[in-house]
Amino acid sequence: VVVNGEDRLSAVLSEFARTVITEFPIQRILDHLVERIIEVLPVSSAVVTLISNEFSVADLRQEDHEPTIAPATVAVGLAAVFTFPLRHGTERFGTLDLYCDAPGMLDAADMVAAQTLADVAAAYLLNAKARDEALARSERFHQISMHDSLTGLPNRRLLEERLQHAAQRARRTRTYTSVMFLDLDEFKQVNDTYGHLVGDELLRVVSRRLLRLIRSGDTLARFSGDEFVFLCEEMNSAGDVETLAKRIDATFAEPFDVAGIELTIGASVGLAFAGPGEDVSSDLLVRADMAMYRAKRANEPGRITVDVRKARRSIDNDVLEVDLRAALQADELDVAYQPIVRSADGRVSGVEALLRWTHPGRGAVSPAVMVPIAERSGLISEVGAWVLERSCRDHGRWTRLHPDIPLDLAVNVSVRQLTGRDYCADVAAALDSADMDPRSLVLEITESIIMEHSDRIMTVLAGLNALGVRLALDDFGTGYSSLSYLGRMPIQIVKIDRGFIADIGDASGRAIVAAVTDLAHVLGLTVVAEGVENVQQRDATSAIGCDFAQGYFFAQPMPAASIEALLVA
Ligand code: C2E
Ligand code: MG
Ligand code: MG
Repeated sequence: VVVNGEDRLSAVLSEFARTVITEFPIQRILDHLVERIIEVLPVSSAVVTLISNEFSVADLRQEDHEPTIAPATVAVGLAAVFTFPLRHGTERFGTLDLYCDAPGMLDAADMVAAQTLADVAAAYLLNAKARDEALARSERFHQISMHDSLTGLPNRRLLEERLQHAAQRARRTRTYTSVMFLDLDEFKQVNDTYGHLVGDELLRVVSRRLLRLIRSGDTLARFSGDEFVFLCEEMNSAGDVETLAKRIDATFAEPFDVAGIELTIGASVGLAFAGPGEDVSSDLLVRADMAMYRAKRANEPGRITVDVRKARRSIDNDVLEVDLRAALQADELDVAYQPIVRSADGRVSGVEALLRWTHPGRGAVSPAVMVPIAERSGLISEVGAWVLERSCRDHGRWTRLHPDIPLDLAVNVSVRQLTGRDYCADVAAALDSADMDPRSLVLEITESIIMEHSDRIMTVLAGLNALGVRLALDDFGTGYSSLSYLGRMPIQIVKIDRGFIADIGDASGRAIVAAVTDLAHVLGLTVVAEGVENVQQRDATSAIGCDFAQGYFFAQPMPAASIEALLVA
């Protein structure tokens, strides 16, 4: 019996020893100890009580464990209580109380075992206490190292941590995440004029005011010096941030009272978004920072001004970017077609597809604004693919309606599309699904593409030619490419930029158009004059020998349905 008892005791002790090194909550381990004691010793219940208030850990069953223990235990039918001290050196900080149903003594071995268990419990508790204290210290340290000591705001490290969490959440919730970078204008001047103490106080006052603008769950961090960052998560639309931007604007319209000095100070704000399903990363911080610098460049130096308004433009572009993404899904994009006519007989020989976007709030957004935004954000591949697909479909309808009228379709292409994944395959697929003759398709590329003539791009252009698709060099003369390039590129058409056509009235303008046209013809290229606005320009381009012309003189860009009507006429 004794051996068996010792075995069980040592089993409990070793089990207990193992738990000491784990992160188990103290309460659970003590519960477990108390349960096992009952199995090892001839007692009916056991209680650990801590009498030292050094322990933050609640003792077991404390409520029903009064100091006047004997009468209470007798009342509930317990006959004997044995108390073993929990010791730390000579100090006693608690007890292990064992209760028996029957009166009488525990035998000597049980008494030794009980004290052993009490000692082990004591060692465990001291260990756990030390662990908790170390944890609290490190939490305090963490807290300090993650916050800015001047303003108490989260610092850059904590911001980056929050951004990581935001990334995980954004993947789940498919909402908008935004980062707004705010930099005080002329903060250095405040420091220089009033001293650093006033500068520090200004930062505190500003941070308190900014804190009032954010929703719970958003983060306002002090990034460095006079830079603050807002991290806003789980927004349903880009409009939510515009509201915040407006509130920031209003906040800086009010002067700041800093140690009795009234300071009017401005801020430059840059904003970047990640839309639903997009990656949230520290890239967002970089983009917001860049937007802020663009805003700052627009400021007038030398004065402390409220200038969030001037930051609006870069905010606007980022908002537009988000809206463009939504527009793709919401079918707000459209394609207009501008006829291209043959100089010889004035007949429509083709159309150019031009992207159109009617923004629900702003009305028409010009491709000159939209295309660069789409290029910067990488959306251009999707937008471009949409334009191609849509215009090939329209073209298919026209040729089915009028199989006797051959009509070329010209579509603009950005360099970013060419460098994307397998562009040739996308074009082939679009042609295929619209059942379109590749020889009717012209892809318009700009000189910047030619200038970049990397092997990769040249391969793509050659691939397009191999499909039977023709390539046009758009806006010729606006870039840096020289006439000598024309012969070296895999192009079939040159579109002379409307700037030259506008100057065609004077001798030098006319000479340039004539020279380009002649050279192009020598090289076997076809020439299109762009931006023909009046009859003089029409006559001049046709006299020079431009094969085709395009411009308001002939027709404005128009909806697909109007092209249908035009073909009937
Ligand atoms: P672009 O390819 O040179 O297209 C011709 C532009 O000149 C069009 O402007 C057209 O409306 C305008 N235009 C036509 N005739 C006249 C005229 O007689 N006088 C004047 N002043 N302008 C005339 P839009 O539609 O605003 O497009 C601007 C540019 O945006 C295009 O220039 C093209 O580079 C780009 N773009 C348009 N759609 C797309 C697209 O789907 N993808 C890409 N990547 N770029 C596009
Ligand atoms: Mg074009
Ligand atoms: Mg052009």
